[in-house]
Amino acid sequence: MRYELTLDAFILRLKSKQLTDKRTGQNVQYEVNDAAQAAFAIFFMQSGSFLAWQRHLQQAKGKSNAGTVFKMERIPTDTHIRNLLDPVSPSEFSDEYRFLLGQLAESGYLSQWHVLDRRLAFSLDGVYYFSSKKISCAKCQRHEHEHGTVYLHSAITPVVVAPEQPHVLPYVPEFIIPQDGQEKQDCEMNAAKRWVQQEADVLRQHRAFLLGDDLYSRQPLCEMVVSSGGDFIFVAHRDSHPALYTVVDAVAHLGRIATFSHRHWNGRYGETWTYRFLNDVPLCAGDDALVVNWCDLQITHEETGEVLYRNEWVTSLLLEEGNLPEVVACGRARWKSENENNNVLKNHGYQIDHNFGHGQEHLSTTLLTLNLLAFLLHTIVQVADQIYQQVRRALGARRTFFNDVEALLRYLIFSDWRSILKFMFDQLELEPD
Ligand SMILES: [Zn+2]
Repeated sequence: MRYELTLDAFILRLKSKQLTDKRTGQNVQYEVNDAAQAAFAIFFMQSGSFLAWQRHLQQAKGKSNAGTVFKMERIPTDTHIRNLLDPVSPSEFSDEYRFLLGQLAESGYLSQWHVLDRRLAFSLDGVYYFSSKKISCAKCQRHEHEHGTVYLHSAITPVVVAPEQPHVLPYVPEFIIPQDGQEKQDCEMNAAKRWVQQEADVLRQHRAFLLGDDLYSRQPLCEMVVSSGGDFIFVAHRDSHPALYTVVDAVAHLGRIATFSHRHWNGRYGETWTYRFLNDVPLCAGDDALVVNWCDLQITHEETGEVLYRNEWVTSLLLEEGNLPEVVACGRARWKSENENNNVLKNHGYQIDHNFGHGQEHLSTTLLTLNLLAFLLHTIVQVADQIYQQVRRALGARRTFFNDVEALLRYLIFSDWRSILKFMFDQLELEPD
């Protein structure tokens, strides 16, 4: 039977997972799954008090939405969630991202993210998701400040982006692990390499290319991306690539860099977009330097000549006038991962520390993984669930929608997500599109 891209179907998948349970004795597997479903529910509902209200309902009515909608056998306490999820590795959830991406492809929804002739762009970015002055572990990064040491965890949180698509699709994160004697940048680079190796099949399948900032445009990673069957468009600044710019500047001096301009009207004044590109340049110094293709974009105010934007990239894609605007648009789409992804994690991910914390083994990483899965499910219902789209449109702000759902679930018991949406749809007196 075909898998339905709905929250209800996903919760059933989560419930049927075999998760690590280090306890011995009685058959208590469901409790670990309850903990995973409970954490997921909090992230999906964007509410730290969701479970507390469901406990009230359970006491008053003998059942709750934690059981009916989120399929928990029993509502775990915060302490239970912490203790039960700590031994569960985040990699136990990696296949869920791959599965959902596959389903998005099969159902046709993924075409909304297709760029450059049906390819997918994965934007890589490092983000902090845990910080504390008191709690730490062997995998924490240490930052010395004048007021003492701060312990941090960070990860690369890849997202599928497309220039014209407002939503991003979070994908399997890779955790940045500090190593003795290594700079933070090297640790992030190593995490990126592990991710590329681990996701090589998916990268090939979707003819993917990777987007990243200047940190990523280094030969070892670029080579690994290409040998894994992918491509890259990475920012490459002058100060970190002197050899590359020696060649670019020399060719520019001879007037041999392909250059063309477009005029854009931004609604208030005209802009001049000037593109330049040069294929077959060495990424760095040395005989074994990787040969890449370089481009830049400068946007100026048509009348004043003021520079409004400028950036430069290297890519493994062969550049020509026909594909350059789209390549550059993809390179620029990277900001989406910074804005959307990191915002969600910073503002909403903030709850992670406060609700559950760090754990001894995997807790903070597993919670990040579940939080990103909830974020992915938000995007999935946004594109695949027509009733959700209509209700959201009627209510305006996203926050209003989640506040309403939370309030409804505080007083009423629904059998599943579908019936919550149906209730809202009917009460708002909406008509099917
Ligand atoms: Zn730690």
